[in-house]
Amino acid sequence: MLVSRLGFGGIPIQRLSEDDAIAVVKKCLDLGITFLDTANLYTTSEERIGKAIAGRREGLVLATKSASRKREGVEKHLNLSLMRLNVKYIDLYQFHGVSDKASLDMVLAPGGPITVVEKARDEGLVKHIGITSHQIDVAKEAVKSGRFETILFPFNFVTAEAADELIPLAKKHDVGFIVMKPLSGGMIDNAKIAFKYLFQFPDILTIVGIEKAQEIEEIVGILEGPRTITPAEKKEMQKLKEQLGTKFCHRCDYCQPCTEDIMISTVMMYPSLVRRLPSEHLFSGLWGGVIEKAANCTECGECEERCPYHLPIRELLAEYVKQYREGKLKHEKAQPSA
Ligand code: SF4
Ligand code: SF4
Repeated sequence: MLVSRLGFGGIPIQRLSEDDAIAVVKKCLDLGITFLDTANLYTTSEERIGKAIAGRREGLVLATKSASRKREGVEKHLNLSLMRLNVKYIDLYQFHGVSDKASLDMVLAPGGPITVVEKARDEGLVKHIGITSHQIDVAKEAVKSGRFETILFPFNFVTAEAADELIPLAKKHDVGFIVMKPLSGGMIDNAKIAFKYLFQFPDILTIVGIEKAQEIEEIVGILEGPRTITPAEKKEMQKLKEQLGTKFCHRCDYCQPCTEDIMISTVMMYPSLVRRLPSEHLFSGLWGGVIEKAANCTECGECEERCPYHLPIRELLAEYVKQYREGKLKHEKAQPSA
């Protein structure tokens, strides 16, 4: 399965109008992108990609996923994907978000979900089978199982744990390594250093969530330009790593749904919002509403059970609400009185 070094990630096109979404996908195809990744869970994404690739299917590698852990669910999702993408076969069918051992066992259970996709492969409806995960030990076990041909895993210079063992292990087992979260879920602002880092690793494919054609043009520019990381860029990478530490949100949203409708991953961006937004924006209506809502957390703890990074969500939310309130007070005091 040979593909472009960059793949199209189908999450952001859900936010666009249908015409804009189709235009963005088409633009990416024009720029030479041959790998498109979507999922049953991404609402309109599959259907929009299906419309954009109509008449240009040949040479493309279409990847989609099911988050179901039951054979009937996977069967249903697979048929839906074929219909929405409007294709006769799917190049890569992945088990979505398998980030704990129990989920991996469910996927691999005798007569379980994997057998549905293996049968579909025998029938030519699926060409290859892959898995996606956020948890390194589960990912390593999946690679070693010999049942998957690709692993999609977060990788960037901030979250670089895959570099030491997972990427070499995948290579050893002839499992293709696909990168998700190249910008660490929005934590890395500087695309140039993020992609220069990733492009040092041969034979990996990076998926980028694209909302505007100019984003992919910028990344293609980096791919085509000088890729050596300068000393100043190295310093910038180190600084950001130190600022973020290890306990930061990867914006995967596996913690949802919150029983109080708190937008957890958005509130978790608070430290980065403070760095990036002018105070008048940060302390005004929209952000204020989102962050203040986190004060309603009942500490039920359900979100923490689902977070693959084991973040102390309750503690962090309380801390960011506190910092927000203090910052707001300071900002208001600094305003000239009317
Ligand atoms: S602990 Fe708080 S943030 Fe987490 S699900 Fe419960 S109410 Fe929502
Ligand atoms: S809190 Fe955890 S589960 Fe929720 S978005 Fe962040 S990393 Fe993902």
